[in-house]
Amino acid sequence: MEARRKNQEEQAPGNLGKIRFGKKTVLIPEMNRSTALLLAATFRGFGVEARALETYKGLDLGKEYTSGKECYPCQVTLGDILYFVQEEKKRLGPAFDPGQYVYFLPESDGPCRFGLYNRFQRIVLDSLPGLDRLTITSITTRDGYSFAGILEKDKALDFQKSGYFAIVVADIMDRLRWRIRPYEKKAGSADEFIETSLHHLERTFQEHGPNKAFEKILDEVVRVVEEGKALIDPKIPPKPLIGMVGEIFLRTHIQSNQDIIRLLEKHGAEVLNASVAEWGNYVSYDALRSAKAQARLNLKQLRFSPLWSKLKEMLGFGIDLYYKEYRQEQIYKRVEPVLDLIGDHKISHLEEVLKERDLFSFDVATEACLSIASIISCAHAGYNGMVNVYPFTCMPSTTTSAVVKPVMSELGIPYLDAPYDSSIQPGREAAIRTFMYQAEQHFRRHGRMQKRPSP
Ligand code: SF4
Repeated sequence: MEARRKNQEEQAPGNLGKIRFGKKTVLIPEMNRSTALLLAATFRGFGVEARALETYKGLDLGKEYTSGKECYPCQVTLGDILYFVQEEKKRLGPAFDPGQYVYFLPESDGPCRFGLYNRFQRIVLDSLPGLDRLTITSITTRDGYSFAGILEKDKALDFQKSGYFAIVVADIMDRLRWRIRPYEKKAGSADEFIETSLHHLERTFQEHGPNKAFEKILDEVVRVVEEGKALIDPKIPPKPLIGMVGEIFLRTHIQSNQDIIRLLEKHGAEVLNASVAEWGNYVSYDALRSAKAQARLNLKQLRFSPLWSKLKEMLGFGIDLYYKEYRQEQIYKRVEPVLDLIGDHKISHLEEVLKERDLFSFDVATEACLSIASIISCAHAGYNGMVNVYPFTCMPSTTTSAVVKPVMSELGIPYLDAPYDSSIQPGREAAIRTFMYQAEQHFRRHGRMQKRPSP
C-alpha cells in the first residue's frame, strides 16, 4: 500500500494534484444536483468563482476518448469536462483561455479505480491542444479530503466545515424529494419545489457559509422542510419502503442510472438512497482506523518516532470524524420534529454489523463494506426490499452482490442488482416490476418499519 501511494505521488504531473484555486474558475462535476449546486455556492461564498458543470450532455465525447474498459463514471465525468470546453470555446471564441479554469476532481486511495480517474483524464486533456493549461485540482482520501494547499490557510478549515454542512443539507433536500414525491398531491410539485428551494439555499450558503452561521442556514432548511411537507397528500397510504445502496456516483447521478428511483416510484415504492455524506464520514473513519492500526504496530515494534506521528494523525482524524457526526446529527435533529425524514447511520455501526455476521471486513475498504453492512442493517430494520445500483463491472459493487444475495435469500427480503452502462437494457423495467411485486408482497405480510434507519 505504501509503495502504491509513493508511486501515485511520484507520477502526478504539475498540472494535477493539490493545486491552489487562486483566481481561476472552479468547475465542479455534477454527481447529484443538490450537492453540486450547494457546494459551488459555498465556494462562491469563500470568494472562489465556482460553477457546477452541466452533466451528461458530453457522453459521446467521453466515449470518444475512452476505450470502453474504464469505469462508467469516468466516461461520464470526462464527457462533462470536454463538453464544457467545447461549449466555452463556442461562446468565447478566440478569447477562450483554458488556463483560467480549474477542474475539481477528488480521488480516493484504495484497491479500485477511482484514484486513477484524474490521472487518466489528465492524459486525455494533455493530448488536446492547449488543454494542458486547464489544471485538475484533487482532494484525496489520504489526508481526509483536506483543502490545505488548495485554499488560503485561513480559509481551508472553515471551508471544510461549511462544505460538509452543504453536503448534509443537500442530502436532506434529496430525502425530502423522495419523501414527498410518492405522496404528492399534485404530480410534479415535489421536483419543482426542490429545484426552487435549492436555488434559494444556494443564496443562503453563499451568504452564511463563510461565517459558519449554521443556525441561520438551519432555520432556512427547516422552513423548506415545513413548506415541502404541505405538498404531501395525507390520504395516500404508506408504500413499500425500498433502500438503495451501491457505487456513489451511479446511485446518485440520475442520468447515469436512468432515474431508477423515479422508476421504482412509478411501480409503487417509496425509496431511500444512501447519503453522500456517508462517503465523507467513511473517509475520516477509515483514516482513523488505519492510523490506529499503524500506531499499534509501531508500538509493538518500539518505533517511537513513527508512533508519535500516527498518534497525531489519530487525533486529527478523530476530531474530524467527531465534528462530522456531530454536525450531521444536529441537522437531522432540527428537521425531525417537522417531518419524519430518515436519519443517517454512523460508520461504526456498519462495521459492527459486518463483524456480527462475519460477512466482510473494513480492512478490504471500498464501498463494498458500506453497501453490504447497509443492506443487512436495513433488512433487519424492516425495509421491504433493497437495490444495489452500480456501474457495469464495478469491483466493490460486484463483491457486494456476491456477498449479500445468499443472505437476502435466507432472510426472505427482495433484492435487486441494477448495473448500468450507457446502454438501455430492454428487460430493466420488467425486472423492476417483478422486484416491486415481491416488495409489495413483503409489505403486505410484514408491514413496514416506522422508525427507519438509513441505508
Ligand atoms: S467504485 Fe467501481 S466504478 Fe468506482 S472506481 Fe471503483 S471499480 Fe470503478
